[in-house]
Amino acid sequence: MGLIVQKFGGTSVGSVERILNVAQRVKDETDQGNQVVVVVSAMGKSTDQLVDLAKEISAAPNKRDMDMLLSTGEQVTIALLSMALNEQNLPAVSFTGWQAGIVTEPVHGNARITTINTETVKNQLAAGKVVIVAGFQGITEDGEITTLGRGGSDTTAVALAAALKADKCDIYTDVTGVFTTDPRYVKSARKLQSVSYDEMLELANLGAGVLHPRAVEFAKNYQVKLEVRSSMERVEGTVIEEEASMEQNLVVRGVAFEDEITKVSVLGLANSLTSLSTIFTTLAENHLNVDIIVQSTTEAETANLAFSIKTQDLMETLNVLENNKGVLNYEQLDAENKLAKVSIVGSGMISNPGVAAQMFEVLAKNQIQIKMVSTSEIKVSAVVEEKHMLKAVEVLHQAFGLSADSE
Ligand code: ADP
Ligand code: ASP
Ligand code: MG
Repeated sequence: MGLIVQKFGGTSVGSVERILNVAQRVKDETDQGNQVVVVVSAMGKSTDQLVDLAKEISAAPNKRDMDMLLSTGEQVTIALLSMALNEQNLPAVSFTGWQAGIVTEPVHGNARITTINTETVKNQLAAGKVVIVAGFQGITEDGEITTLGRGGSDTTAVALAAALKADKCDIYTDVTGVFTTDPRYVKSARKLQSVSYDEMLELANLGAGVLHPRAVEFAKNYQVKLEVRSSMERVEGTVIEEEASMEQNLVVRGVAFEDEITKVSVLGLANSLTSLSTIFTTLAENHLNVDIIVQSTTEAETANLAFSIKTQDLMETLNVLENNKGVLNYEQLDAENKLAKVSIVGSGMISNPGVAAQMFEVLAKNQIQIKMVSTSEIKVSAVVEEKHMLKAVEVLHQAFGLSADSE
């Protein structure tokens, strides 16, 4: 007998019919003699609808209230799925995140899980029940309800799998696995048989929404056996593991992309030893995430600095910089909107120089100007104009041999 954690995303539980389908997928596991913990998301687009409701009332609702609101979505699904399983004479019990012992840091809207008190879940499993847990939510030490960031139900599932030492964590979703790029936008995308934790972590962090980045982090740190698969089609998914098999020895395994990026320039920054640390400490203290950073080298008394952020953080970033202008000591701010980041990822890059050069060449050949660049051992990212994003993804996908039709 094994212990399996199954996670079903919004589309997979989007209607009564689909909840009944999920109940069947759960039953398939228990029929094999496995104990099952099921983590579910809110039905369909209901989290988005809750966000819209809040916006109708307040342009900037307080984050505690937002968590209170958004955490209700998952509660609907756990109750309905439990009813569906009990109807089929499969004893089940539903728990909110806090009932399931999921403790987070005291941050609203994007909290990290710090501990999981597994006693209640374990007791119910021992009593022969299927345990259903609401994804995306937890509780602080002080009893405040928190949420884990959009897409965070994946993290609930993997963290539970790690804490319970489950044999496997299956992420059921609306695609059949992890593809070479988002199959919704690129028709020639191919499903990968396997992908390494490190590659998946980069892909997820760089915009491949199929898995929440923190879920991959947990899986890597606790060596959770993870598979992304379809809740509708009964086909093999993609396994995420330490060493992925190199299909066709491809150096690049995937292309990820993200829109709504803004480049902020800080011009005429006093060229002192501490000016960079002061700027980025100030932004960090205000919980503002900066991505790519470029500083012009200059012998002069002032330097120019540029960094990229998510467009949604622009107002706050400009406010923080302007409010601290005296301390930060710069002349002028500038912002360029409507940018996107396109990234290529693959473990094979470590031993293959020239991948970045090839990427730049391909983009240049297609008249796509690069605004900023960043690299790590296994990825290269380029910031381009948003209007060129999908074209850039397609030409890179093709050039690096990932397209189904480039085989
Ligand atoms: P769920 O509600 O099940 O969590 P998500 O919408 O969060 O589903 O994630 C699945 C979606 O991720 C897919 O529909 C697909 O459009 C998108 N996606 C982005 N990049 C990839 C990729 N590389 N492989 C597969 N899907 C991807
Ligand atoms: N319901 C949440 C969201 O839409 C969490 C999740 O689906 O993973 O972001
Ligand atoms: Mg998701």
